[in-house]
This record gives sequence, structure tokens and C-alpha cells, in this order.
Amino acid sequence: MNVYDSDRMSASLQTKGYRVEPNPANADVILINTCSIRAKSEQKVLSLLGQLRPLKKKNPEMVIGVAGCVGQRMGRTLLQRVPHLDLVFGPDSIDRVFDLVESARRHGKRAVDTQMDGPGRTYTQPAVIHEAKPAEFLTIMKGCDHFCTYCIVPFVRGREKSRPIAEVLDDVRKLVARGTREVTFLGQNINTYGKGTPENLAQLIEQTHAIEGLERIRYVTSHPRDLGTDLIEQFGRLEKLCPSLHLPFQSGSDRILKRMSRLYTREQYLEKIRLLKQACPEIALSTDIIVGFPGETEEDFQSSIDVVREVGFTMAYMFKYSPRPGTRAFAYEGEEVPESVKDERLARLQDIAMAPIEAGNVALIGTKTPVLIESMDKKALYYSGRSPHNRRVHVLNAGDACIGKILEVEVTEANASNLRGYYVGAPRLDRRSQEGLPAPVCHA
Ligand code: SF4
Repeated sequence: MNVYDSDRMSASLQTKGYRVEPNPANADVILINTCSIRAKSEQKVLSLLGQLRPLKKKNPEMVIGVAGCVGQRMGRTLLQRVPHLDLVFGPDSIDRVFDLVESARRHGKRAVDTQMDGPGRTYTQPAVIHEAKPAEFLTIMKGCDHFCTYCIVPFVRGREKSRPIAEVLDDVRKLVARGTREVTFLGQNINTYGKGTPENLAQLIEQTHAIEGLERIRYVTSHPRDLGTDLIEQFGRLEKLCPSLHLPFQSGSDRILKRMSRLYTREQYLEKIRLLKQACPEIALSTDIIVGFPGETEEDFQSSIDVVREVGFTMAYMFKYSPRPGTRAFAYEGEEVPESVKDERLARLQDIAMAPIEAGNVALIGTKTPVLIESMDKKALYYSGRSPHNRRVHVLNAGDACIGKILEVEVTEANASNLRGYYVGAPRLDRRSQEGLPAPVCHA
């Protein structure tokens, strides 16, 4: 969502005459878009702001701003803490970015804009399309009505609001007309898209599926309680709906799930997994897991390991619990799991979770998979994209002309995080072993 918001800010400014300057030292405006989901990401923002101080000293006209959830959470405090910061604004102010930046540049006044949208179940936010990438994110809703006790999101992004289906479809059509082949719908709790209106996510998926030229549809993030049977059955029926789903379980212990206020039990979670596999046996499932939530015992932790073993995820994102001021869990004083125990549990869980994920990827060596090529990697050694099952695939013999194409790729190497292989329609030139780069090839 933050990548999408950053692109949106960038596109808004570019449509008004700004251009992207890769070297911060030469920029007139530096905006840092931020995440406050964990304490560490907030610390990183402060450290980056410290690094920017010499640039501001050299060029006092430069405007430095902090956007997003840290801006929303800290507001004026951040401005007071960082004297060389000009602008602080939250996620709901992103559409005002041009006015905010212009005002800071013209009047030289430091400003805070953390005003959140008023009440209501809908909002409109047509995409600012500056360029369309082969695979695009599209925010369709914002905020969250769940108050998981560890989570800062409802405080910094507000209550749930959805964009109308007609507006979202219009964006998708515009993106497709400019070359987008895959769209990922974004929402904090996307299964309840349309809540309080006659529209819902299943309808949006059906109608998006009918758009000609679009090849792939995905959505994140799902909540195990709100993932309904209407959404589950679509995985077995709709060709363009990619067979992959991110379904965080956070803890395998019912006691901890209750303390997290996740509103489901481990059995209910596993039942959703069973239904998903029944609807779409090839579905690739990924998850989020928190270790060391206040009060988590070794037995609770073992329950999380059991779920990992039982489901067979294709990817798992594992985190140590990070206390966030203002949340309910922040007040669970005296029940903190010691940092050393969290570290040990995280390491243990990572070993247990990642071994089968790697084995699963290695088992794909020799198979073929369609890959939508999105970009070249930073070292220019391969082109990269994703399989329908959301695996990152590096293609060793592709060229510029392949960007935006779906290539049939034979997998020849694999590790826990990605696959590598060759596009079957071109000679096996390996970019990694070439002095110069091979001529771009693409017959797709
Ligand atoms: S459902 Fe997700 S975004 Fe909403 S409060 Fe829970 S963890 Fe946060």
C-alpha cells in the first residue's frame, strides 16, 4: 500500500511538472513515505532524516517532508523533534501533496496536515496514472474496523472506507489500455470491501475478470474471519484470479488469538484453509506470524509451529511482536516475553517454516511456469516477474522486449525466496556469464 501511495504522490507531482531526481543531493523536494506498523520502521525514518540534514544545510530551499503513517502518528511532535523537517502529513492527505509541497516551497512555512477523512463508508480516489507497469497495485479501500490489539493501523488509517466498483473498474481499464496485465487490489482488510454499501469484493472480482486484456487478478490482505465462501469458490472458477492467497494467522494458539482480538480460532482458520484447498488444490498460501506476543508461552508458540507444519505455506513472514503505543496490547504490562526468548523463538520458527518452503521451490526445478516479466534487476543480470502462484522468478535469457509479456519459463534453480530459469522460446544465453549483455530476445 505504501508503494502504491508513493507512486501516487510521485505521479501527482509529475503531472504538475516535477520530475524524479535519483540523486537526493540534487532534489528540490524529498518526501519520505513511512510505515508505523513496527517500532523499527519508525526508527529508520528518524535515522534517514538525520542523514538528510547536511543536504538541507547545503540547500536551505530544499523541502523535506514525511508522509504516511509515521506522519499521522507523530504529527507535530515529529516537526518539533526534527528542526530541518518542513512538512508532515498522513495517508489521508496524500492527494493534497502538490498543494502541501508548493505551499512549503513558496511560503517557507513548516506545516502539519494530519486531518483524516470524515465519516462515511465510501470515498473516491481515481488513479493518477503517470505510467502503467505490467503489474500494478490499486488501492480499493482504506482503514480497518478490526482493532487487533497489537495493531496501529486503525489509529493511523481510520475506519474502513471503500471506493465504488465503477471507479475501480475505470482505473483498471485505463491501466490495461496502457499495458498493465496484472492488477493487485489493496486493502487493509480487503474481504470486507464495500461494507455498508450494496457492493462487495466478490462482485468486484467478477466484474474485473470480464475486462479484456487483463490477465491476472490478485488481492491482499485477507482476514481469516472475513474470507467468505463466495470469495473462496472463485479460486476454483475464475481463470484470471491467481491461485495464491496471503492469509495471516498470527498465532496458532486460541488463547493468544483471543488476546490479539483476531476473532477466529485456530480450527476456524484451518477450516478456511481446507475450503481453499478444496476449491483450488494448487493454491499457494502465504501467511504472517507474530512471535512473542505478551503472555505467549512455549506451548502457545508450539501451536504456531503446528499450524505451519499442517498448512504447508509457500511463504511465511515472521515477526517479533513490536509494542506500539496507543494499542491495547501496549498496556499488557508485566506480561512481555523477554527479548532473548523472542529472538530464540523467531529463529526456531524461521528454520521450521523456511525449510519446507525451500524444498517446495526446489521441487519445481524442471517444471515450467508462466511468468509476467515486470522489470530488470538492479545488477542487470536477469529480468524478473512472478508466477501465478506468486513466486518471484528470475529469467536469465530474457530481454527488454519481454517486459510486460507472459513467458513460459523452465525452472533450473531455486531457493527459499525465488526461482530462476530460462524462457523456453529463446536460446539459453545466461546474462550472468556474459561479458556484454545478450541481445534482447522475446518471441512471446
Ligand atoms: S485486521 Fe489487520 S489492519 Fe486491521 S487491525 Fe487487525 S492486523 Fe490491523
